[in-house]
Amino acid sequence: MSQKKINICGAGLVGSLLAIYLGKRGHQVELFERRPDMRANLIDGGRSINLAMSNRGWKALDGVGVGEEIRKISIPMYRRVMHDQKGKLSFQPYGKEGQAIYSVSRAGLNARLMDLAESTGNAKINFNERCTAVDFEKASATFKNYETGKSTSSEADMLFGTDGAFSAVRAAFQKTDRFNYSQEYIEHGYKELSIPPNEDGSHKMEKEALHIWPRGNYMLIALPNPDGSFTCTLFFPFEGSPSFSEQDSTEKARELFKEQFGDALDLMPSFNQEWDENPTSSLVIIRCYPWVKNDKVTILGDASHAIVPFYGQGMNSGFEDCSVLEELLSEKGEDWPLVLEEFQKSRKPDAEAIADLAMRNFVEMRDLTGDPSFLLRKKIENRFYGKYPDKWMPLYSMVTFSHIRYSDALKEGIRQDGIMAQIMALPNIDTKWDSQEVEEMMLKLC
Ligand SMILES: Cc1cc2nc3c(=O)[nH]c(=O)nc-3n(C[C@H](O)[C@H](O)[C@H](O)COP(=O)(O)OP(=O)(O)OC[C@H]3O[C@@H](n4cnc5c(N)ncnc54)[C@H](O)[C@@H]3O)c2cc1C
Repeated sequence: MSQKKINICGAGLVGSLLAIYLGKRGHQVELFERRPDMRANLIDGGRSINLAMSNRGWKALDGVGVGEEIRKISIPMYRRVMHDQKGKLSFQPYGKEGQAIYSVSRAGLNARLMDLAESTGNAKINFNERCTAVDFEKASATFKNYETGKSTSSEADMLFGTDGAFSAVRAAFQKTDRFNYSQEYIEHGYKELSIPPNEDGSHKMEKEALHIWPRGNYMLIALPNPDGSFTCTLFFPFEGSPSFSEQDSTEKARELFKEQFGDALDLMPSFNQEWDENPTSSLVIIRCYPWVKNDKVTILGDASHAIVPFYGQGMNSGFEDCSVLEELLSEKGEDWPLVLEEFQKSRKPDAEAIADLAMRNFVEMRDLTGDPSFLLRKKIENRFYGKYPDKWMPLYSMVTFSHIRYSDALKEGIRQDGIMAQIMALPNIDTKWDSQEVEEMMLKLC
């Protein structure tokens, strides 16, 4: 296997992990990152934007031996805690006993991955370097330095674009022939708020849980941080009623929170300031193909498949890109043209599936988690899964706790919907949900 010079544009989550994989394979890797080095100002374990990591992400991290280290800076979330308008709580486990998704600080994780990429001894990160152009013949890219204003070009054997949803590398693909591309903004945006810790540093709500305030067309969620705080995110329509555009004063937003999320508002002493100062951001779905050009330039992560965050799978699927690429490299002995072709062909249907699943899960989270019939369906499925794990795995578990391809999980989820519609239509299902009759019918329908 010959050593290659590989450039990576974007040292975010996926770019940094990819650099670890390629650096460990002995390639000479250079990363170019638009932002300054985030590690200079990082307060470790502090308040932050956090992400939910699940099995696909862990597999990719374990694949380069960094999972254990990241587990140390993460918090397990074993169940959803739903808050109704009066602050009454209901609970739903995410999976089987002991199964959890994990809250990880985005900045903490990114910084650690950068350290680990450098510690391979084969990866160098250049900061303040914004990609402005790509030459597909030479696998070269031009970068403009923010500090000096100088533009330089760097040629390599291969270039990877991991520069996120608004990728400059993908923008270059868009100027090439027969490149398909679509970008869809959903009608909801989001705003981040926070719940600070108690004085003794403990959490003000159940720590090892993901909290949801489902309200039909919108929702608030909260994930725990290691310093005792929670990062909350309001997913809310931009227009219509209610909407961000209606909340044209802090007082109005406060009134909305008092009415809809009263128990959360009581824990938010900085609500007014955060509402005013924190941006309202949009959510975009990016679909495109092909992801590889001239066997040399490849996009992955959000650059090739940005999705909405409602399944907590954006980063996880980007990390899975890295494990799939690694598996193909091992299998095909670094026959790069073959590997890249197989990578895009096999991965594209999975990217499509998780984009659809993520939108489906938005409806589930904001609407159905407050619906008794939905909760009953989950109870029936979980009971059946517990007894017959070889016949049934709930869709959420397939996506979150398994490595079943997203495209297969989606197909199986649609089949299960059909079965569960028949089960839920049984008379008096709410009283006989755990009966022999229901179990036998499910066995017949499976
Ligand atoms: C509100 C919200 C919540 C989310 N929650 C979750 C979650 O719980 N779980 C989950 O798995 N996913 C979640 N996601 C999705 C996740 O954030 C993304 O999927 C993930 O960050 C993608 O990683 P990436 O490295 O591909 O892109 P990014 O993280 O966007 O990194 C891209 C990097 O490229 C750099 N860059 C950009 N342009 C250039 C350029 N021209 N030149 C050089 N560098 C450039 C950027 O500065 C950045 O460092 C969430 C997303 C949002 C918006």
